[in-house]
Amino acid sequence: MQQFTDTCFSAPFSPTPTLPGSIDLSLAQIDTWMTSPAKGGDGWGEVKTCLFVCVTTSEGLVEWGEAFVLPCREKAVAEIIHALGRSAGEMQAVSPQAFRNHAVRVAAKHRSLDFAAASSALEMALWDICGKRAGKPLCTLWGGDHSRAIPVYGNIWSDTQWDAGSLERRATELVAQGYGAVKIHPMLNHSAQEAAHCVTRVRAAIGDDIHLMVDLDSQDDIATPLQVERLIGSARPYWFEEPVDGEEIQSLARVRRITGLPIVTGEKQSGLTNFRNVLAADAADILNPDIAGVGGLLDMIQLSELADRQDVKISPHCWNSMTVAAAAMLHVCAAIPNAEMAEIYPEYIAHGELFATTGFQLNGAHAYLSGKPGLGVEIDTSALESLSHHHHSTCLTIVKAAT
Ligand SMILES: [Mg+2]
Repeated sequence: MQQFTDTCFSAPFSPTPTLPGSIDLSLAQIDTWMTSPAKGGDGWGEVKTCLFVCVTTSEGLVEWGEAFVLPCREKAVAEIIHALGRSAGEMQAVSPQAFRNHAVRVAAKHRSLDFAAASSALEMALWDICGKRAGKPLCTLWGGDHSRAIPVYGNIWSDTQWDAGSLERRATELVAQGYGAVKIHPMLNHSAQEAAHCVTRVRAAIGDDIHLMVDLDSQDDIATPLQVERLIGSARPYWFEEPVDGEEIQSLARVRRITGLPIVTGEKQSGLTNFRNVLAADAADILNPDIAGVGGLLDMIQLSELADRQDVKISPHCWNSMTVAAAAMLHVCAAIPNAEMAEIYPEYIAHGELFATTGFQLNGAHAYLSGKPGLGVEIDTSALESLSHHHHSTCLTIVKAAT
């Protein structure tokens, strides 16, 4: 079993993955595409810009990664991908582990979510290449089982449709489609009283057999989430997500103690330090770092092991396309022992099908990986190009020749 050195902890770390021996890669080219915002499926929310990276090796393998991005900084993340890729391209041979160590050195302990998103995308593509080279589904390289049924939930997110009636209607739609769990964001543009009303309305509409997750989207103080919890009465949720910001660890721990509800946090955090502090404070039951923003799949797997020691679960956040990043999320969930439900953005699915064969199938309550090598995702580059407003290419063989 390969030993990893935890870059954030003093103790050595040996996760479960068994890595293939011949995974050193020579990088030849990096391409990025940013898709234009688009109307979501089912007439619900808008699909945000998504950022994809395609890594080509000197032997001609072409594989994919994806970075978590937020409005106004997509181009900055793409620039980091190319700069980080150029510096990694100067290495004689790159493996996911060597790249991760390289990214840690480049970050020089000045991590940010945008840098972590860029390194996540590149490392994801390197893993995709490893799986393709091995001829195996990626999760099996980590000791996982690609035939595992992976529980999922549908995130009910919209930029505009926040009223109780809209949430109730959308939740009912998703349950009718087969989802066994849905998440709502009742604090958007609402008071605590109105938010509690949204929760009770949705709970009444979907019944008690469907899991209802409540995301409070990082309130500024604990009084508001405590008030919501009191007002929702018997409509208690499956989990309470970010009742306060993920950096307010002691406040998260207080809400957890007072309400007794399972607390979820982590979507805005990268690296492992914050999560170590969350675990030390007993502040959460489930961690949800973004699969394309935490820093890399190795970080996600390592975090899973740390969390599992305290019986804490992992539910990867995936506010990304339902193609490359979603496949990576499902491979991680198929490999770790403490996977909670994986996050699905239902309105993003149709958009992804315009340019990708996703490598997994959804039946609402579960996702199933296809068993294809690597991530299992196939991208129609021409279709992706037609949906994108930005494409940038870096030829690394020229970079190497110049050094
Ligand atoms: Mg959230």
